[in-house]
Amino acid sequence: MHRTYENEDITVFWDSEKCRHAKRCVTGCPQVFDINRKPWIDISRASNADIWQTIEKCPTKALTCAFNHGIRVVYDEKDARSLAYDGDRIIGECDYEEKDGAWTIYHTEVHPDYGNKGIAKRLVFKLVEEAERRKMKVIPVCSYAVKVLE
Ligand code: SF4
Repeated sequence: MHRTYENEDITVFWDSEKCRHAKRCVTGCPQVFDINRKPWIDISRASNADIWQTIEKCPTKALTCAFNHGIRVVYDEKDARSLAYDGDRIIGECDYEEKDGAWTIYHTEVHPDYGNKGIAKRLVFKLVEEAERRKMKVIPVCSYAVKVLE
């Protein structure tokens, strides 16, 4: 399971397949990471600095984090993609094709001016979350999606 948790400044990524339940997150910032709550992560309950410090202690990288840099990421169901916006301008996208109960992610691209900001990861996670909610299998084909997911 892949999930993102966003506020205005940061996006937290959680990949359950990498979680080995060392619980460093739960002990490091219990108000945010609470396995008895649904959803178990609530990033409104602590400062970004406290959340970031706790995530850095996750031994398996099941939890990771990126600054948003003012970039908004949305799911565009009509055109089978996720999009990243800087204001009104599209600066990145991740595309998939639906076939036989699976979403094949075949393309991820971010404008070169916006590289190394975690935007491609946010785009891929946005699609994977949507696919998982719809009980769709995800087949990563583009190299970036493969790197994020495998
Ligand atoms: S610290 Fe990382 S590996 Fe440990 S429970 Fe939290 S998310 Fe899972």
